[in-house]
Amino acid sequence: MNIGRAERMALILARDGATCAWCARPFRGSTVPTTDHLVPRVKGGPSWLENEIAACRGCNRLRGHTSPVDWLAECERRGWAPDGQRIERVLRDLEAAIAERGGQRRARAYVERQLRRLAKS
Ligand SMILES: [Zn+2]
Repeated sequence: MNIGRAERMALILARDGATCAWCARPFRGSTVPTTDHLVPRVKGGPSWLENEIAACRGCNRLRGHTSPVDWLAECERRGWAPDGQRIERVLRDLEAAIAERGGQRRARAYVERQLRRLAKS
């Protein structure tokens, strides 16, 4: 099923809350939500809701292709309050979605590495 951009974002915000996953700023005024792929698309991340979180423009741009675990550490270093629980939950949902739908070999390995690192931290 194909749904529009605004509708996808509404689903993400309903699932995760209307704050940036990384800097925790609420989305209002000039702080607008953008779609951030947990497994970057250049690393094989699928364009699935299970791979998408909401991030403000600044965080999305700053993170670039940095991995979620590395970027969580960087956010903390900057004194922000990133939502590590959200990141872990969405990674687990993505892991389950990949297991159910199959394929996505690169993303599957990437998610497994991220979850292993989260378990150690
Ligand atoms: Zn942010």
